[in-house]
Amino acid sequence: MAILSEPVPSLNSETFDAKVFNEVQEPAKKRVSFHTLGCRLNQSETGVLSRSFEQQGYSVVPETSQAEVCVLNTCTVTEHSDAKNRQVIRTLHRKNPEAIIAVVGCYAQIDPETIASIEGVRLVIGSEEKMRITDYLAQAFTQYTPLIIHPKISKDTFTAPVIPHSLAFLAKNQDKQIKTVERDSVSTNSELQYPDASVTREKTRASLKIQDGCDFMCSFCIIPFARGRSRHRDFSNLQEEARMLVQEGAQEIVITGVNVGTYKTRELTIVDVVDFLNTLPGLARIRISSIEPTTVPETLFQYMSDPQHKLVPFLHLPLQSGSDAVLQKMKRCYSTAEYVDEIQMAFETVPDLCIGTDLMVGFPEESEAEFESTLKLLEKLPLAYFHVFPFSARKGTPAFKKKEQVPPPIKLLRGKKLRSLSSKKRRDFHQRFLGQTRKVLWESRKPDGTISGYTDNYIRVDLDDTTGSALRNQILPTRLTRLLAQSMAGKIILDA
Ligand code: SF4
Repeated sequence: MAILSEPVPSLNSETFDAKVFNEVQEPAKKRVSFHTLGCRLNQSETGVLSRSFEQQGYSVVPETSQAEVCVLNTCTVTEHSDAKNRQVIRTLHRKNPEAIIAVVGCYAQIDPETIASIEGVRLVIGSEEKMRITDYLAQAFTQYTPLIIHPKISKDTFTAPVIPHSLAFLAKNQDKQIKTVERDSVSTNSELQYPDASVTREKTRASLKIQDGCDFMCSFCIIPFARGRSRHRDFSNLQEEARMLVQEGAQEIVITGVNVGTYKTRELTIVDVVDFLNTLPGLARIRISSIEPTTVPETLFQYMSDPQHKLVPFLHLPLQSGSDAVLQKMKRCYSTAEYVDEIQMAFETVPDLCIGTDLMVGFPEESEAEFESTLKLLEKLPLAYFHVFPFSARKGTPAFKKKEQVPPPIKLLRGKKLRSLSSKKRRDFHQRFLGQTRKVLWESRKPDGTISGYTDNYIRVDLDDTTGSALRNQILPTRLTRLLAQSMAGKIILDA
């Protein structure tokens, strides 16, 4: 196998002619499928990769279809994720025996040789270069040993490709007419150009990556090794993508990254990102996906409390444990008292705020008393839901070496208790809004014809009747009529 530790020069549209490449090298090899494991950040990066393939003349096909190139964007957060990646690679090879299998991302960064030794894999790219995968494909096509691209992850400010869906579409459909359409009521002063609306994949909520990697070094987490140390996206590059996403129809932008509260380029912080997004005509909502405790600037709470501001009243603040002793062993950057202060301040400042959290159960040496203090703290806090994860020892992290592991049945039991409390909290949160009218951004219609969307404060709402047509991507006043298991039922109020 060939291992490149230096990136190759970028093959941009001036130096790399996809048409020539496809005709000369592989005339029939035009279909590419994408497979993603892991977090929202990975999902959003796969979206960008898919558009860069389209721009190079590929046809993106569904995961289940045959393809000549299969791209797997990997996760490595637990050992189980690693096994899952390997299983997906084997399945892809079995279903597409002639395909080039390209494996990119976090697991490719941590263990490229193991991946390259799996049959069918021809290209392995770590975190630093994965967004430039199309630059390396030509080489992978011409050689039969797997090519590994594994340069050191840089700490520099980065840029990401900004490729409109509509332009990728137009590149393949030059003869289709462009028509000018007026945005709906949310956008009052912008005329935007779209390709024929019947074929444009209009966005509803779009992720905007502003940051990558992490410097916090929590003792259970592999991310600082898999994605590198914290680095930040060039401000003008993220502005460019945000404008493009809004032009493509995104009503809501979700600010995404590994540790977004630490964003800093020159003197600009996450507050400046929010300030900029707030000025974008056509954008209705700004959401922050997840942010580390003690990194949230207080200004953001002021923004959330202002009904005219686009930053929605939503906060996902990972606590992990309600025991100070466990937090210290985890090497988290805050105490329970600091966390409680932050939550209380947010809760008192922002009306109708939805606060969610992540919790880890069964961290090594977590005693029954420490778990009980987590449970007690959570009962008191004004949280709306928790995501609960059992601790899973990850090779390469300090916690992996800890001897006193919590037995799996105890982890299971603790997880169950927290999930049951989470369901109760969610129900209580929803109950507060029963009978009220809130604006819902309607998103997807499911195969059974039902449609759902989210309020600004992250209540999932299922439409109570299916008479509405063309609701997708509209923000409409909706009465919250009933509590459902994880969501609420809602009725659109047309005369509100
Ligand atoms: S804050 Fe901790 S858990 Fe989160 S990515 Fe950084 S090291 Fe991992």
